[in-house]
Amino acid sequence: MKKALLLLGCVILLFSSCQKAKKQTPLMTYIEEPHSFAKPNEAVITHLDLDIKVDFDTEIISGTASYLINNNDASEIILDSKFLEIEKVQADGTDTNFKLGAFDSQLGNPLKIAIKPETKRITVFYKTTDKTEALQWLKPQQTADKAQPFLFTQGQAILTRTWIPIQDSPQIRVTYNAKVAVPAQLMAVMSAENPKTKTADGVYNFKMTQPISPYLIAIAVGDIAYKPISNRTGVYAEKSMLDKAHFEFSDMENMVASAEKLYGKYAWEQFDVIVLPPSFPFGGMENPRLTFATPTVIAGDKSLTSLIAHELAHSWSGNLVTNATWDDFWLNEGFTVYFEMRIMEALYGKDRANMLARIGRQDLEEELEGLKDSPNDTKLKLDLNGRNPDDGMNSIAYDKGYLFLRTLEETVGREKFDVFLKNYFESHAFSTTNTEKFIKYLNENLLEKNGITFNTEEWIYQPGIPENQAIIVSDKFEQVESIVQDFVKTNNIDQEKTNNWTPQEWVHFVRNFPEDMNTEQMQLLDNTFNLTNSNNSYIAMVWYEQAINHDYHGNNVDEKIETFLTEVGRRWYVSTIYKAFKRNNKTDDALVIYKKARNNYHSVTVNTIDAMLGFVSE
Ligand SMILES: [Zn+2]
Repeated sequence: MKKALLLLGCVILLFSSCQKAKKQTPLMTYIEEPHSFAKPNEAVITHLDLDIKVDFDTEIISGTASYLINNNDASEIILDSKFLEIEKVQADGTDTNFKLGAFDSQLGNPLKIAIKPETKRITVFYKTTDKTEALQWLKPQQTADKAQPFLFTQGQAILTRTWIPIQDSPQIRVTYNAKVAVPAQLMAVMSAENPKTKTADGVYNFKMTQPISPYLIAIAVGDIAYKPISNRTGVYAEKSMLDKAHFEFSDMENMVASAEKLYGKYAWEQFDVIVLPPSFPFGGMENPRLTFATPTVIAGDKSLTSLIAHELAHSWSGNLVTNATWDDFWLNEGFTVYFEMRIMEALYGKDRANMLARIGRQDLEEELEGLKDSPNDTKLKLDLNGRNPDDGMNSIAYDKGYLFLRTLEETVGREKFDVFLKNYFESHAFSTTNTEKFIKYLNENLLEKNGITFNTEEWIYQPGIPENQAIIVSDKFEQVESIVQDFVKTNNIDQEKTNNWTPQEWVHFVRNFPEDMNTEQMQLLDNTFNLTNSNNSYIAMVWYEQAINHDYHGNNVDEKIETFLTEVGRRWYVSTIYKAFKRNNKTDDALVIYKKARNNYHSVTVNTIDAMLGFVSE
């Protein structure tokens, strides 16, 4: 209401100066969203100056978060905060009143700060606590080099508020500067312009001049070094991982070039990847300018680098054009998977892209099966009100989102679809959008223009998969399936045929074992292909799942599973294995391992596995 009046007054009285103001700080209307206490239409942050000290002894970050704000005559600005200790708050340099509202277990507390209509800057003096959910502090023995401690953050979806008091909604965008003090033997890097060497005093200054959503503010601190791949791409890693990572990701410049050819210029100047210790909960996190990645993609043969294509694609879908709320998460992930497949196709050909797409299709089938009692969660547009947005981070947003876009592409033709997508990214750059706005844009700019009818609403607002879905065929996978079937019948396998298999073919092979495959057959395959000892984490993960499904205990596979679960914290991997234990009524076995492994996991993995296994910590 207030906003509309102000805009009107602006138009009538001061058209020219209003235009000017608009250019500096775009006036926009924010929508109500369930995962932030902020009221950005009253007062919104636009720029963050962060000044913090990272203390590994106490495992606490302390300092100030100071914001420039767009103030719409407000008497209060509300930030999100969770498990933070707020010491004091200033408005334009003078102490001001603040109070923490009631605690909500998902959202934390609203931090309500008294301001005046003319207040332009607020500064919060704060500390993190041992309950922080974004930060994971690692002891030296949890790192690759085992000599120095490590710290990293994970902000998505609503965890940034546990290390910085902030308006933590994806529809809000800020630029930021940061001054970060760390122990002198360590280096700090952020989702910003980064150092390439260590400083003498452990103090680092960062600048992020492009506005990003709060969930994309990230930091990592460790004994790391940098190795460039091209003048705009490179890797950060601990010493013992640096050359391996550099080799694994050496196609990165080609990836960026391919992506630019598809959907326009890379908007963030630098594209680097940091390889984190194995407890990192995700495959990758698309923090702008610096993707955070799990070491489990280092396979030695560049076979799992579609993950980098995925995180790179987020530089357009997600980071440049951002989902307005977590109910619209499919806009981030569905588009990114689609773009990822196109990059992989451009670089490595259709066969590879189709194998990846088929794997995603099988993941989707399993997800649909798992969600058969909650069909609403199989819609693209979600309703996560009152729930943790993490609940929406499953295969639906990714793989159903992909299938929707691929079906759309096949319906309208690739040429038209590519023009549409490129324009979509360009016209929405550095802004947020939601499902409804997307549908309108799609209708106006692709479907109506070309006289095409398409069941968009069914795809987005109905559960399950519509009948007109694109059929993804992979000749390579069909060959793999026939080899599985032959083996089951004959107990024989022609090794010649498997000699040139990619890890994707191995994964497909293992995932397609029939339910009644017996332990002798499992043993035979293990003895022939040494699957229990696979150095490829993806093949190992699906093999362990099958070992549990088929009650196979040969070749010390049980020990291997335990080591894997204790060392790796990637949520997708560990949850797949724990889920297999649970499905096969072996939850007690899972709990024995989980109790040992839990301390090594980041909070997002812990939350998922606690719920899955019904674990309650003492
Ligand atoms: Zn993603």
